[in-house]
Amino acid sequence: MPRSAVIIGAGLGGSLLAHYLGQRGWEVRVFERRGDPRARGTVGGRSINLAISARGLHALERAGLASAVKEHGIRMPGRMLHSTTGATAFIPYSADPTRAIMSFSRSALNMLLLRAAAAHPSVQFTFDHRCIGLDEQGGAAIMEGPDGVTVRATADLIVGADGSFSAMRGHLERRERFEYSQSSLAHGYKELSIPPVATGPHAPFAMDPKALHIWPRGSSMMIALPNPDGSFTCTLFWPFDATPGTDESSFATIRDGRAALERFRRDYSDAVPLMPELVQEYNQNPVGSMITVRCWPWTMGGRFALLGDAAHAIVPFYGQGANASFEDCEALVDALERNPTDVARAIDEYQHERKPNADAIADMALTNFVEMRDRTAHRMFKLKKKLDHTLNHWMPNAFIPLYDLVSFSTVPYAAARARAARQDRMVVRVGIAAAGLLVAALAVGIFAVVRRMLAAEAT
Ligand SMILES: Cc1cc2nc3c(=O)[nH]c(=O)nc-3n(C[C@H](O)[C@H](O)[C@H](O)COP(=O)(O)OP(=O)(O)OC[C@H]3O[C@@H](n4cnc5c(N)ncnc54)[C@H](O)[C@@H]3O)c2cc1C
Repeated sequence: MPRSAVIIGAGLGGSLLAHYLGQRGWEVRVFERRGDPRARGTVGGRSINLAISARGLHALERAGLASAVKEHGIRMPGRMLHSTTGATAFIPYSADPTRAIMSFSRSALNMLLLRAAAAHPSVQFTFDHRCIGLDEQGGAAIMEGPDGVTVRATADLIVGADGSFSAMRGHLERRERFEYSQSSLAHGYKELSIPPVATGPHAPFAMDPKALHIWPRGSSMMIALPNPDGSFTCTLFWPFDATPGTDESSFATIRDGRAALERFRRDYSDAVPLMPELVQEYNQNPVGSMITVRCWPWTMGGRFALLGDAAHAIVPFYGQGANASFEDCEALVDALERNPTDVARAIDEYQHERKPNADAIADMALTNFVEMRDRTAHRMFKLKKKLDHTLNHWMPNAFIPLYDLVSFSTVPYAAARARAARQDRMVVRVGIAAAGLLVAALAVGIFAVVRRMLAAEAT
């Protein structure tokens, strides 16, 4: 008897999970509040491109999709830092030049996953249906269609993969002893673009496509990721509100495209000639907000489970939100395979495995915002990266920098963070010991010289 699942949300996590379960013979129904992207050719969403790294690629490989996905991706082996003068500096992400994060079109990736899932006869997608509640006792999710008609869907497993503002999580929040916290970043984001060019050293790209471009400006920044059509999607991260007594950029003070152009001429001058649509895009494109959501438990009634952003929305500064959603899918199907007749136990194992890792990447993503927007601009950052890469080169197994552990390995996030902290403490101790030895050697040398001088005077 095949097992059955209902998945709420046909985003990145929901579509991959539907594909995994379809591969394993499950009867799957996916309900998505938006229309069918196959009909209109795109998937709506917040950011246009995404950085996918080892974790995401590993999950896609398991799905048999890695090579198809890689065809659409652009390798980014490092960051290109843009100073206020327009000078650029490339800093590799890893000591190993073969390692790179990949820039993908979000809609192309979502479409590929959706098509792969829909190719299984046992997987069925229903679009324009929004989850509006759960029937906990009856073990069902309640959906509302475009005509206002409700659908009650029951299954052995019901997964809320419905993103940061999850309706399923909203239901869980009303339960006693449910722990929930949501913190909003003081910064918002706005998407802008750099179109392809006809000539130039990187044509059709206006800048080197083999990098994630960053304009670090202390309290704010802009980044740009390449797209296969030769364009870049830029994301501007500015505070929502002005900081009193400063002239810092904010969405509250820079109110329209003209003011933005002025500010760009001052702070992002090398980008201005590459952004002919800046004024118009600044006026038209909305400002998005970013939240960190932590909650517990992720499951209810032995059949309901949260996955991806619904369980752990994180800020995008480590480029790991989608990667983490994909890892959730792997962990969930592994737990279901370990417990073929016990969904309740499987989802409990899944949540206990994933929660500490979700918490760890949430913290690291917040810390990385400060690194990207501020520390990357300082010489110490470049020196630290050089030191990390040198140590990794000398001792590839003993010393692996945090960025490599997070982006180029599948070591669980919590273990990666703990290991990097241990390594950093070791480097500090070795540094202090080396400095101590140097001081001691100097002292011995000085002592010897003084003794010789005194001896010479006595004779
Ligand atoms: C600016 C920005 C940049 C980012 N960059 C990166 C990056 O470089 N790398 C990376 O790994 N991650 C990145 N992320 C994070 C990434 O987008 C998310 O972590 C990822 O999309 C989560 O996948 P998901 O399936 O959990 O949710 P989503 O992809 O958000 O999918 C949720 C789906 O559920 C549907 N839905 C919502 N509510 C309902 C409902 N009530 N009923 C039915 N359907 C519903 C939605 O329409 C959507 O299709 C970024 C995020 C932002 C905001």
